[in-house]
Amino acid sequence: MIQANEYSFSVLNELKKNLQNAEVGIARGMGRCYGDASLADSVFSTLKLNHILGFNPSTGIIEVESGITLDSILDFIVPQAWFLPVTPGTKYITVGGAVASDVHGKNHHAEGCFRQHVLEMDVMVEDGTLVTCSPTVHADLFDATCGGMGLTGVITRVKFQLKKIETAYIKQKMIKAKNLNEIIELLDTYSTYTYSVAWIDCLKSGDGFGRSILMLGEHAKVEDLPERLQKSPLQLPKKKLINLPFFLPSFLLNRLSVSIFNFLYYHKMLKREINNVVAYEPFFYPLDAIQNWNRGYGKKGFVQYQFVLPLESREGLVKILKKIASNGHASFLAVLKIFGDDESLISFPMKGYTLALDLPVRKNLFPFLDELDALVLEYKGRIYL
Ligand SMILES: Cc1cc2nc3c(=O)[nH]c(=O)nc-3n(C[C@H](O)[C@H](O)[C@H](O)COP(=O)(O)OP(=O)(O)OC[C@H]3O[C@@H](n4cnc5c(N)ncnc54)[C@H](O)[C@@H]3O)c2cc1C
Repeated sequence: MIQANEYSFSVLNELKKNLQNAEVGIARGMGRCYGDASLADSVFSTLKLNHILGFNPSTGIIEVESGITLDSILDFIVPQAWFLPVTPGTKYITVGGAVASDVHGKNHHAEGCFRQHVLEMDVMVEDGTLVTCSPTVHADLFDATCGGMGLTGVITRVKFQLKKIETAYIKQKMIKAKNLNEIIELLDTYSTYTYSVAWIDCLKSGDGFGRSILMLGEHAKVEDLPERLQKSPLQLPKKKLINLPFFLPSFLLNRLSVSIFNFLYYHKMLKREINNVVAYEPFFYPLDAIQNWNRGYGKKGFVQYQFVLPLESREGLVKILKKIASNGHASFLAVLKIFGDDESLISFPMKGYTLALDLPVRKNLFPFLDELDALVLEYKGRIYL
């Protein structure tokens, strides 16, 4: 159990005092990073620093305090026909967290990381000085803060560029792939799509090793929508959230149950290809529809393990997938994607294959992950903090 003192602040002078008084401290947003990166003896919660400071509806430039969530920003910008330039798989994170982890989305190969859309930001560094930085002003601080996991100071304000949309919907294409070779070929063939990601069955061996479903998407235009939605294309019907009220027993998640889930998920798609239009929320944020979804992993929880390997290390990807399939550390959610070029100083993404797995905590999981770490290093890859 980690004990921490949490300090919150709504004005910068309070933050300055907190920073000067604390010996060891770190900024914390929504705490949605999968590890302990936002925990230390002192934690500076940005959640009260959550205002929109400026927005130009003709250019799509928005300026916000760092503790605002992507969820609040989407509520404000989507009805005005703008969207986030990059978004991770949950909207319940702060803008400060998005910059500090330099988050990537399904469009990394086409539009890069969050950092690439940031025009300017303020960072309060250790001695309490507030420094404005950008790709051209104090560029060293800017580069080290994007992906710097809070280690350069507390980001307090971010100005970034949004992207224009016509509707709140996504034109989606889903294609089934029989095995790893086919999914890698498909990822390549459809690389012109803005959004692209594949769910992969990590437990299947033999002929179906690496069977997957590729999910592609583009922001839908008004004419792509069925007529009933064309009257208010930027409004989504309000959906009730489902809640998981208690922890499920962890024995429910085992090799057999996950294999059955994977079989049903793969075969529920009867055709090889489906084309449809879906609201942006289920496309980008499927897990956000279930509050407390993490309880499904039982009280011991789970670990998310994500790595990237250079394209020339395909052999390493096969080795790691085979190790996972034979070892049986079962993952419902396994996501494969190809990252594009990335020239950042310290951010996680680089050109190559990235695989993210949600693995329930079990005896021997951590020694197993150490073995995966060794393979990732051997094949010149990186692990996401
Ligand atoms: C369901 C789910 C899906 C996800 N999908 C993706 C994905 O597709 N791509 C991806 O890249 N990530 C993904 N993530 C991870 C998540 O987007 C990042 O970890 C993000 O940084 C979390 O933001 P947060 O506000 O919760 O920050 P926290 O978890 O509180 O902190 C994360 C890091 O950011 C630092 N930090 C936070 N705020 C500030 C600040 N104001 N100033 C300086 N440093 C700060 C913290 O010190 C810490 O190092 C996902 C997480 C979940 C739960």
